Amino acid sequence: MDLLAVALAGVHFALPLAYYSYAKAKWLPRPWNVKIDENYKPKVVVIVPTYNEGLTIRDKLNNLYEQNYPRELFEIIVVDSASEDGTAEKVREWGKEHPDVNLKLLEEPVRRGMNPALNFALKHISKDVEIIIFTDADSYWPPDALRSVVKYFADPIVAAVTTNIVLASREGLRRKEEMGENVYRSYYNNLRVSESKLHSTPVHNGALVAFRFRFIRKINGIPEFTGNNDSTPASIIAFMGYRAIQISDVTTVELLARNNFLRKVRRAQHLLLSFLKTKRYAKKLGIYVKSPFDTIWRIEWWLHVINPWLLVASLSFLIFNLVFYGSVTALVLIGAGLIPLMLKAYRAWIMQQVYLIIAAVRNLWTREIMWSK
Ligand code: GDP
Ligand code: MN
Repeated sequence: MDLLAVALAGVHFALPLAYYSYAKAKWLPRPWNVKIDENYKPKVVVIVPTYNEGLTIRDKLNNLYEQNYPRELFEIIVVDSASEDGTAEKVREWGKEHPDVNLKLLEEPVRRGMNPALNFALKHISKDVEIIIFTDADSYWPPDALRSVVKYFADPIVAAVTTNIVLASREGLRRKEEMGENVYRSYYNNLRVSESKLHSTPVHNGALVAFRFRFIRKINGIPEFTGNNDSTPASIIAFMGYRAIQISDVTTVELLARNNFLRKVRRAQHLLLSFLKTKRYAKKLGIYVKSPFDTIWRIEWWLHVINPWLLVASLSFLIFNLVFYGSVTALVLIGAGLIPLMLKAYRAWIMQQVYLIIAAVRNLWTREIMWSK
């Protein structure tokens, strides 16, 4: 039984490592194989959903204001769902101070969740808009983000673009655990970009996720079955055979949440739902075509849905052996799994497994479509 435990843990760690090494060696160095054009300047609408973002919304708007993109081609829509902390007033105020910005505030009378709010906002966008971008209020872009993202859309095969991401507290990147997070992030960023070079990545991030508007209309708006506005629509688009990519020439910053644990669990819940339901959804829409994205999807599906449980099984066997048979081998093996927790990257990996496991269980009774803030 100890042997079985070692085998399960071995598979748990070896598969993602092998996949990462392979993707990084074989796919990451490839060219994009898409036409990138710096002069391509379509109409863009940036949509910021807000619920009680009074503390961040002004910084967010100031940050968008600094984008190097022609103002007349760039509109901001803030869609607020009955915030109780004066978010809407702050947006109106900011708008008055910046009459040179094309800013629209949409207010929902009651809160129904982020995706319903986004779908409501989509109804207010004219069809001649080429690209829409969702961005969470607690995320920040470098000044060239928009330009860099948009240039990939010059190729009609590209239908979704997201960016690299790092996490930071308001005080910056000083604290140690954040650096640990960011080591882990670079693993993810590399992997997502590698997948994107081959075809597309199934995991996009809400700090900046851009879509060719036509495609969002084609899939009838943002689906509401997962609660996320990034990975799910991007994956549906990839299943259409179009590219849904993460680019590495832009890195956005996301603020660490006060309650990071619950947030991670909720996001893992949404991501799991995405892996469980999106492919079927794409097939039902009748838009699914076979592509190299299928391979990526299968592997990531395994890594999110199955792989965490190998670790649970392994640990359960060892604990069982230790408790019922007093196995010294089991004790040593558990120790061997715990010691590397001193390494940030390992710790971050284990935490991600914990999030996924809690998420899977939690999905049985709540999908967290409307989360507390
Ligand atoms: P996290 O980044 O995954 O922790 O999620 P957030 O709580 O930051 O939410 C992402 C974005 O959606 C933020 O800009 C929120 O203000 C916004 N948001 C969350 N819930 C709602 C909602 O019910 N309605 C609207 N309009 N926006 C929401
Ligand atoms: Mn957020």
